[in-house]
Amino acid sequence: MAQITCSFCGRNKKDVDLMVSGISAHICNFCIDQAYQILGEEDKNKKPGKNVKVKLKKPKELTEFLNQYVIGQYEAKKVLTVAVYNHFKRLLQKGEENDDIRIEKSNIIMVGDTGTGKTYLAKTLAKVLEVPFCIADATVLTEAGYVGEDVESILTRLLQAADYNVESAEKGIVYIDEIDKIARKSDNPSITRDVSGEGVQQALLKLLEGTVVNVPPQGGRKHPDQKMIAVNTENILFICGGAFDGIGRHIAKRLNTQPMGFNKYVEDRQVDRTNLLQYVTAQDLKSFGLIPELIGRLPVVTHLDPLDRDTLKSILTEPKNALTKQYKKLIEMEGVKLVFEESGIDYIVEKAVEYNLGARGLRSICEAIITDAMYELPSDDSIKELVIDAKYAQEQFDKSKFKKLQVA
Ligand code: ADP
Repeated sequence: MAQITCSFCGRNKKDVDLMVSGISAHICNFCIDQAYQILGEEDKNKKPGKNVKVKLKKPKELTEFLNQYVIGQYEAKKVLTVAVYNHFKRLLQKGEENDDIRIEKSNIIMVGDTGTGKTYLAKTLAKVLEVPFCIADATVLTEAGYVGEDVESILTRLLQAADYNVESAEKGIVYIDEIDKIARKSDNPSITRDVSGEGVQQALLKLLEGTVVNVPPQGGRKHPDQKMIAVNTENILFICGGAFDGIGRHIAKRLNTQPMGFNKYVEDRQVDRTNLLQYVTAQDLKSFGLIPELIGRLPVVTHLDPLDRDTLKSILTEPKNALTKQYKKLIEMEGVKLVFEESGIDYIVEKAVEYNLGARGLRSICEAIITDAMYELPSDDSIKELVIDAKYAQEQFDKSKFKKLQVA
């Protein structure tokens, strides 16, 4: 009888663990394994991100999408979407070699109180743009050689978000939070070496401008034997955000020293003293302690408005994935109808304002109010409806260990 051999590698049947026979050919387990790996590689190459073509979405289209999730903040949305649109137009321009007019990068800086939606805006934008996105915290960054993270670690996160697809990461968006915390602390004489301030700003410059950076794939400190991945930051859009506590003083001072004087300015242009952030400029960021070179690389400056009661109420009820909608869905799964009465919503908003928790607190307050129900309902078939009015909300809230939250 003729010997059975693998039609791919020629191995004899007795030398392999398994031989699969087809109509006129055979394949051994080694070749099956190898073919399977090839299939895997092919799949990886087909993953979104490889040879990423960026879809150009117009500012209004982007805003429409943002509006489904983020309430208010119209100025920030306008500025952001225009900057992003221009950024992607710049990417498209890249192909046109002999164009003398080079469009520069439009990295963005957002100034706004904590919890007003800076991160949320950046994250939602990345979602609509379908590009990798990561959040980095400026406070953990230090100059190379000091305890803390090198600025390159930011790109490690982006690479991870892009599933280590370098080409895709190179078109991603990085949100750097708490950029205000690395402001120069020159008025503090006890700091002889400003490790976490100006030095970090200096280290960030190259990254923001566009350069090839060697990134440690697993993060942490660079060390000589580590294999690095080269990432070009030229087309990465950086969005920085910070609360810039106390910047109002600098803004007011600037408005005041303008030739017309503050009072005149107030009359003529109706300066809204309750929300001075809306007048923020690069000059104020410099007075606050950002170095001019860094400000120069963040040419688009915008602000977020503080959240008032009405906005908090809208945040609770209107967005596509609003908290009330999420709880309704959760409770519905138990076959129970959840109704938020107006008075219940007002109570939640009131507590968020009272505890000064902003939008971030809405969730903790809801949890405090609804947890008992979510504990009881799955084991109690008799309840078909749960109504959250002010009375119910208050009862539950008073029972909760909310004091803990007040400390946090
Ligand atoms: P920041 O980065 O400004 O400190 P975040 O973006 O982290 O604040 O906001 C915290 C949370 O509050 C978000 O995840 C979001 O659920 C909610 N939130 C804040 N502002 C808004 C807004 N304008 N519209 C909808 N949700 C918001």
